[in-house]
Amino acid sequence: MARYPFEYDHSQPFIQQASEWIADVFYDILPEAGFEVRDEQIYMAFQLERAFAEKQTIFAEAGVGTGKTLVYLLYAICYARYTGKPAIIACADESLIEQLVKPEGDIAKLGKYLDMEIDARLAKSPDQYVCLMKLDDARLGHDDAALFKELYGSLPSFVHSPGTLQSFHAYGDRKNYPRLNDEQWEKINWDAFQDCFVCEMRHRCGQSLSREHYRKSADLIICSHDFYMEHVWTYEGRKREGQLPLLPEHCAVVFDEGHLLETAAQKALTYRLKHIVFEELITRLLKGEIRERLAVLIDEAIEQSERMFDVLEGQCRNIPGSDRKQVVLNEQLLDEVHHFREQLSAIEEELVFESELYTLNEYQLRIVEEHLEMMQRALSLFDHSEKLICWATESGTGLTLVVMPRTVKEVLQDRVFSLRMPIVFSSATLSVDGSFEYIAASVGTESFLSFSVASPYDYPKQMKAVAPKWKHRGTFTEKMKAAVQLLMHTEGRALILFPTADELRRFKQEIPEYTECSSMRFLFEGDEEISHLIGRFQQDELSMLCAVSLWEGLDVPGPALSNLIIWSLPFPPHDPVFMARRGGSTRPFEEVDLPYMLLRLRQGVGRLIRSREDRGIAAILVEESDHYDDLREQIAGVLPAGVELKDSLDEVTQQSTHATGTVV
Ligand code: SF4
Repeated sequence: MARYPFEYDHSQPFIQQASEWIADVFYDILPEAGFEVRDEQIYMAFQLERAFAEKQTIFAEAGVGTGKTLVYLLYAICYARYTGKPAIIACADESLIEQLVKPEGDIAKLGKYLDMEIDARLAKSPDQYVCLMKLDDARLGHDDAALFKELYGSLPSFVHSPGTLQSFHAYGDRKNYPRLNDEQWEKINWDAFQDCFVCEMRHRCGQSLSREHYRKSADLIICSHDFYMEHVWTYEGRKREGQLPLLPEHCAVVFDEGHLLETAAQKALTYRLKHIVFEELITRLLKGEIRERLAVLIDEAIEQSERMFDVLEGQCRNIPGSDRKQVVLNEQLLDEVHHFREQLSAIEEELVFESELYTLNEYQLRIVEEHLEMMQRALSLFDHSEKLICWATESGTGLTLVVMPRTVKEVLQDRVFSLRMPIVFSSATLSVDGSFEYIAASVGTESFLSFSVASPYDYPKQMKAVAPKWKHRGTFTEKMKAAVQLLMHTEGRALILFPTADELRRFKQEIPEYTECSSMRFLFEGDEEISHLIGRFQQDELSMLCAVSLWEGLDVPGPALSNLIIWSLPFPPHDPVFMARRGGSTRPFEEVDLPYMLLRLRQGVGRLIRSREDRGIAAILVEESDHYDDLREQIAGVLPAGVELKDSLDEVTQQSTHATGTVV
């Protein structure tokens, strides 16, 4: 395979030559293969040239249908080959990763029409892999044991036999078990409480083997924002432990749906603390021959941890509709946290002496030290509660305390933007009133390039939008009837987006009562692996996909998605993260809830029209509230220019509809 897809003249700047070739791709090569020339793509290509040449951060705001993915992929591949390091493409979530590499996706398209072999590998998050330890428990348990036994039997033979002369390969990916529902999957996948560092199966575990595979990619590594941030956050610690960082050295990063990076960063910086996990970790030290002083400190720390969790329990308040519990900080809890931290510090100091005596297993010691340091870092946020967001969750094994920083810009500044490499934020929604300052400030970069290009679609012709006015302010039953009318009109071919899993569940429960829909095929998120569900939705034109997590990035052009139903407005959840954000604002509804909702709604509406040929209806089922008129105006403002928001379903369903779902 030739290294570059063009003749490279070493006496000339590389990026300039790559850029000339990319212009040829858009002006000549792709049009010759039957693609239209898109001015927006060519404009974007020139903008990215500067970001790559000067190793700058760029906010690339490009509307739906501008073909932005092809542009950034071409630059990323050329630059990877030039630098000899892969480029990272970070997508908003795991389901979007698969969309990039699907057979009809953009990477396959480039490979085919440019006659290139592109080495693109997926770096999925650990929770997308089977954990052999959990699988052992699950197949010996009561629920679905037969299913898990069968799955165990289907694992590669090297998992079961200890021989060394075998060739290992990656396996155990969630995608390979499409029929498992989310609940079954969660019984056997990796979770944050698995201790892979000391697991005896780690060299045969699908998760570790997948890591070895993607590290060797020559061109692109595709991961989620969460995974990229996990890499950033654990980079130093893993190196100290003598482990490789999650991702290899790379030459550039593209954050697709870049407006979501801040949330992913916060998630990655989240620390989960549980009493029994701490006890298990710290008592590992007692297995070595340690001095009495350290043994006493360990016992005291375990007691203090127990006390801290007891006080925490008394400070937890249920949040309606959320499984997260609000933690009310008071003096007593802060004191207990403070004492616990003092005890951890004392243990850390003792460990320095202990390590000089060489009585403890060095590897175990490093792991315990690393965990203690992470705990200290997380708990230090309690010193400045204005910098902290925390909550608790409950399970059969007790409370988990979850701690995250309120802002992440310092971390992103230090560990991402200071790396001097091209960083592309790509999304249809990055600017606010034409300015990129808001997103730049939230992720912590001061120096950046930016541009904005609109969508090339003729929206007033291609889509109709309605937010029906109701007789009874929009009860659940009224909404069900409206949805059924819309589904009958387009004979399925619908994506129904729900803001919460509870709403989806209720819809799923009630839809069988509507006999007019009895022959329709509904696909529900959570029933099967998500990319498998998306594939079925795309192939089975008359089916309907009901989802909670597909507000962003889903790309299903053609008649299979002719009807978009937004079940209710996607306001942020009542959970501690948003409670903290609201608490920090003097106008919480205007500054936190409304902007979040409108951005998400704009993204959701963007799922409908994905090509020039697409036609469809977007129905937004808004319950009427006291501020209904204001809200309606805001919703109308989210629609593409020229699309009018109607208030009666009849206005969008009375017109005839082709069998393909095309509204005329
Ligand atoms: S390495 Fe981690 S994920 Fe794999 S089997 Fe062990 S504990 Fe589970």
